[in-house]
Amino acid sequence: MAAPRALAVDVGGTRVRAAVVTRQGRVLARLEAPTRAADSPEAVVAQVADLARRLPAEGIAVAGVCAPGPLDVDRGMALATPTIAGFRDFPLRAALADCLPWPVHLEHDGHAAAWGEWRFGAGRGTQDMVYVTLSTGIGAGVVTGGRLQRGHRGMAGHAGHMTVAPGGPVCDCGNRGCWEAIASGPAFAARARDAGFADGRSPPAPLSRPGRGTRASPTVPQLSPPPGGAMPPPWPCAAHWPRTSASASRT
Ligand SMILES: [Zn+2]
Repeated sequence: MAAPRALAVDVGGTRVRAAVVTRQGRVLARLEAPTRAADSPEAVVAQVADLARRLPAEGIAVAGVCAPGPLDVDRGMALATPTIAGFRDFPLRAALADCLPWPVHLEHDGHAAAWGEWRFGAGRGTQDMVYVTLSTGIGAGVVTGGRLQRGHRGMAGHAGHMTVAPGGPVCDCGNRGCWEAIASGPAFAARARDAGFADGRSPPAPLSRPGRGTRASPTVPQLSPPPGGAMPPPWPCAAHWPRTSASASRT
């Protein structure tokens, strides 16, 4: 019997990414879509289910989902994610478990990225590592002594909301001068707009060189969306999945 695989999902403020991965970290197939971050949390959950349904399900035993913090991982709650509308005291893990036929493990995205990098990437072979993710927001994950540090209530690594410029620009979290309000992707775009670049973009320039900076291995199937685009299933979407006895017995 083949080793179990996992559905790996990154719910980002800009894109939702889903992949089928092996225990050795090999990506077998992947899909992504722009996050419906302005719609509702249910719409985003339905997006995850939609991507998962279009990936090969064979051998998947668990779904690992990461999302921006702050999360209460123990209770499976999105507490107050500034970049996704409605991710405020939202039972993200339970909502996903209704839509997916596998047990769902929820993790803070910075922690998941740090652990992935430590297991399979630049941190391999080290004991101590800090990973910083710069995207729609800024997050971080810390590995010390070969252990991922979650911190009190999972708050370790929420570096994006450190005040680095007192009195600086207003952050989505409501504070001023957060690192994220100055150096995240949207913050860079806003500063580019302020500097006179249309649409917040600098003049076209190659962002990657051949053989470097590519987002995916050419051996990873990039599945195409169906004609007309994928329509997310209606909420609740549990009816779209044949519930397994394992997942149906979970509360
Ligand atoms: Zn902030």
